[in-house]
Amino acid sequence: MKVIRSIPSMQHIARALQCSGKRIGFVPTMGALHGGHLSLIRRAKRDNDIVVVSIFVNPTQFGPTEDFQKYPRPFMQDKKICTKEGVAYLFYPQVIQMYPQGFRTYTEVKGISDVYCGKLRPGHFRGVATVVMKLFHIVLPNRAYFGQKDAQQSIIIRRIVKDMNMQVEVVVIPTIRERDGLAMSSRNAYLSDRERGEALVLSQALVACRGMVRSGERRARRLIARVTAMVREHRCVKLEYCAVVDVSTMQPLQRLAGRVLILLAARVGNVRLIDNCIIPVSWL
Ligand code: AMP
Repeated sequence: MKVIRSIPSMQHIARALQCSGKRIGFVPTMGALHGGHLSLIRRAKRDNDIVVVSIFVNPTQFGPTEDFQKYPRPFMQDKKICTKEGVAYLFYPQVIQMYPQGFRTYTEVKGISDVYCGKLRPGHFRGVATVVMKLFHIVLPNRAYFGQKDAQQSIIIRRIVKDMNMQVEVVVIPTIRERDGLAMSSRNAYLSDRERGEALVLSQALVACRGMVRSGERRARRLIARVTAMVREHRCVKLEYCAVVDVSTMQPLQRLAGRVLILLAARVGNVRLIDNCIIPVSWL
């Protein structure tokens, strides 16, 4: 595996691969790789000739009071994992290269990037969308792999790719969870033992919602009330929001129909965690 730190080198390699007819599968990450990232890498490996992974802790998607400085950066460990997984190129640029002096261009998606997590983290999705567009222009992927765990992010990326007529296939992979149900996340490492235990309520609340829908519940407010009540029983956990929306438009639903996305975000101690599930209501 080659570690590439310069943008022109990565572009040169990507162009040469494209010219020789190789299909590039791309997995953008911020590193601190876990089982969720691995499932994306493995799927990319299965579907393409060459896998490129990027590791870049992107400053423009962090708010001024967020954890950019202390975000975990175990690069040597990540490099080992990528080598073992058969990644061909690890793109690992520096902030100054990605955002040189004079940088002024941002990508925004109206109506989707400013709701839910976007509302609570102003500028977050603008940062995500901008860096992903930059990375697409650098890595020139045929397919790019994202996790369902960050549901709003993948909806935004799909929208941009469609709106901008980009020739990248966006593939979204199901959320990988710990044995007990907690969605894997690089931020789980910040949790104390007690918080780790209480964080379970997030996935349990989603399981409860699924059960309610299976029993015939179709009122979104009932699901939200159940999630709120479950979370309230845990002292370390503060629900930021729970929303029941249409999976492609992110419009809130009152009555459940079609493919329904239940989103939640919470603070567990000082750690912000998100989780979600999709329920195909018409199939149940
Ligand atoms: P991050 O390094 O947190 O920016 O995540 C990089 C990619 O991995 C994103 O597309 C995430 O949605 C995806 N990802 C993160 N956690 C998980 C998970 N538990 N299951 C599946 N994909 C994930």
